[in-house]
Amino acid sequence: MKNDIIIAGCGVGGLYAALNLPEDKNIVIITKDKAENCDSFLAQGGICMQRDDEDYDSYFEDTLRAGHYENRQESVDIMIRSSRDIINDLISYGVDFQKDENGELSFTREGAHSKPRILYHEDITGEEITSKLLAEVRKRKNIRIYEYVSMIDIIEYKGKVRGVIASSAPDNELALNNPHVKADNGSLVFELRAPEVIWATGGIGGLYAHSTNYPHLTGDALAIALKHNIPLENPDYVQIHPTTLFSNKKGRAFLISESVRGEGAILLDKNNNRFVDELLPRDVVSHAIFEQMEKDNTEHVWLSMAPIPREEILTHFKHIYEECLKEGYDCTKEPIPVVPAQHYFMGGVHVDKYSETSLKHLYAVGETSCNGVHGANRLASNSLLESLVFAKRAALKISHELENIQIRKHNIVIDLNKYTNLDKIAAGYALSVNTEIERMRLYHEQHNNDIKHRPVNIASA
Ligand SMILES: Cc1cc2nc3c(=O)[nH]c(=O)nc-3n(C[C@H](O)[C@H](O)[C@H](O)COP(=O)(O)OP(=O)(O)OC[C@H]3O[C@@H](n4cnc5c(N)ncnc54)[C@H](O)[C@@H]3O)c2cc1C
Repeated sequence: MKNDIIIAGCGVGGLYAALNLPEDKNIVIITKDKAENCDSFLAQGGICMQRDDEDYDSYFEDTLRAGHYENRQESVDIMIRSSRDIINDLISYGVDFQKDENGELSFTREGAHSKPRILYHEDITGEEITSKLLAEVRKRKNIRIYEYVSMIDIIEYKGKVRGVIASSAPDNELALNNPHVKADNGSLVFELRAPEVIWATGGIGGLYAHSTNYPHLTGDALAIALKHNIPLENPDYVQIHPTTLFSNKKGRAFLISESVRGEGAILLDKNNNRFVDELLPRDVVSHAIFEQMEKDNTEHVWLSMAPIPREEILTHFKHIYEECLKEGYDCTKEPIPVVPAQHYFMGGVHVDKYSETSLKHLYAVGETSCNGVHGANRLASNSLLESLVFAKRAALKISHELENIQIRKHNIVIDLNKYTNLDKIAAGYALSVNTEIERMRLYHEQHNNDIKHRPVNIASA
């Protein structure tokens, strides 16, 4: 079957792009892991929406202030003005946001928001949104999802993208139905052609020792971009979340959502004293925590939910409550230990306002892309919205393109044997992304005296 669009990644970015593409086009979604294993499923706090006309100015200003005024203002404007339509769309797919006693949408607040404008579903908003999008995608006959398939390169020919090179298990149907070779570790490496490609491969948490992200999110698209001279934007803008549950266990750090602080939780040092305004932007709070840990010579600080009514904790923050219990803490009765961890990637593959990269017909959406919305630091709960808004814009531009381009068969010869050492490729990609992050970090340090807002460097994995 001929493919019209290949999408790498099936978080909110990839899924929503697919849903906004024409139903008479063949769409293939490949994802490195199980479809549900993406950061979109992990989002806790919620998703922003411009509440009314009066909210525009303050929402705009909050986003810019959090981003240290390095945001692309046009992108911020597009995101805010599109927010209501996106939320209506989600509701039409069955997404169930919290409502008040009158049946109106309820809003919560998070750090650096001047007012409540965040919609939520308990403390599992990401799962609520992404599972509904995934269910909708699974109903569409024109969209096929292939799990445990990794993009390892793109096919570039005469200044345009023409498809991807991917790897999979030896019995993968997609690989077997396309030109393929056997890799050194027994996997298959294969080519997959299409005139349009969307990168929706998420963040870079897998490159760090301590992160809230899934470990398989290793910034592969960024490495492929570097290889093909596709510009990145601010790859050193990495957000550290101030509050993840401190644990001696290995693996993904469990996030304690910012809305916990938004609802009143306070940060305490080892002597039970407050040391920072908890609602300052994330980077500022993270810095304050690192400083306090150094002063106190501790591995964490404490977060007390005492100001939040017990009933609210058990309903709004049910999953956080349960996760803390698993670690031995009853957060309705005692403070919990928290520590900052890598959380979000503001930088990414540079894209325009339609999410197009510098390579023709190659788009990037979601966390892997940088359209400039977040500037140097993301405002809480802006990323799901930003991913959805710009995924839809990519889909609409591609739909238009597909109506107007003549698709020709090209005789491109690809040497798949170059890709058989998959471990070496993965290690090389991680190295090239880390090197670029460090290069840009030094560049920004040298060209900007006010580097207080730069993300704290935490160890790479
Ligand atoms: C714990 C946590 C809580 C969060 N809470 C919030 C919140 O409350 N509000 C908010 O707005 N944002 C929140 N975020 C951020 C938000 O969830 C993400 O920014 C957003 O979901 C990113 O969506 P995405 O589609 O870009 O990527 P993801 O959802 O991460 O999806 C990436 C996809 O790419 C696939 N992939 C990766 N590499 C490859 C490859 N080489 N080949 C094929 N597939 C590949 C993965 O398997 C996955 O399917 C949170 C993030 C985390 C980690």
